[in-house]
Amino acid sequence: MRVFMITDLEGPCGVNGRSDGIGNKILNEETAKQALVNEVNACIEGLVQAGAESVTVVDAHGGSNSIDIFKLHPAAELLQYGGVFHGAFPDDGNYDAAVQIGVHAMQNSGGYLCHSYSSHGISEMRLNGEPIGEIGICTLVCAWFGIPTILVSGDEAACAEAQNFIGPMVETVPTKIAHSRYSVRNYSPTKVYAALRENSKRALEKLPRFTVPPIPKDVELVYELMCPNLADGMENLGGERQDFRTVRYKGDDFMRVWLDTQHSDSSVTAHYAHLLSMRKRQ
Ligand SMILES: [Zn+2]
Repeated sequence: MRVFMITDLEGPCGVNGRSDGIGNKILNEETAKQALVNEVNACIEGLVQAGAESVTVVDAHGGSNSIDIFKLHPAAELLQYGGVFHGAFPDDGNYDAAVQIGVHAMQNSGGYLCHSYSSHGISEMRLNGEPIGEIGICTLVCAWFGIPTILVSGDEAACAEAQNFIGPMVETVPTKIAHSRYSVRNYSPTKVYAALRENSKRALEKLPRFTVPPIPKDVELVYELMCPNLADGMENLGGERQDFRTVRYKGDDFMRVWLDTQHSDSSVTAHYAHLLSMRKRQ
């Protein structure tokens, strides 16, 4: 079995964050990176015990520079990204399961360092009228490839968001609980790592019982931006202006709409064609 692992840097136990005036900032970046790799490796240990042969780890935090490959479990391969090939996309369609490690809850959720892609740019994202954050988007991106998301770890708000979006089958591992966006009670790392090993193993063992979440056929993705110049930018990418700060994208394929929100026309077409060719299971 092959597992695809999406990682982020806000969700691990021990990450210390504040606001820097324009958005979230991680203060102890080296410690945060060590915290992430510890959780990644604990999760991989559980997955390997349940029969995973390899785990492709995506360094998906901004800049794709948070994971030192030399610290990774030997079953891991590392996916780093740049340019249009954003790392949160599976690089082929032949993964059996996906997990999300170190992730955070959506903007306005009250979770620790909560945001939706841009802590100082996006005030809300809505998919067909429902607020959605990175956990939901990543789940749907994997679902588009036919890959079920079986485990999510992050703070309590991130775990609740995963349960709400994916359903009670998904295994979660809470790493901490937010008292506010910038105040947190971290759980014992030793206990978090033990839970990651145990719950990852259990999640992969029950893989046959997972179904891939349904992807809506008609997709409306609305971005409420913090300020109108950001809405201007998204309008220039082909979004339909709704009002001063709101832009929407519509289409009949989730992946195409998601790409449309990120790139200019020519690179979307190329990237979409590439992803379609990788989508072997559908
Ligand atoms: Zn993130």
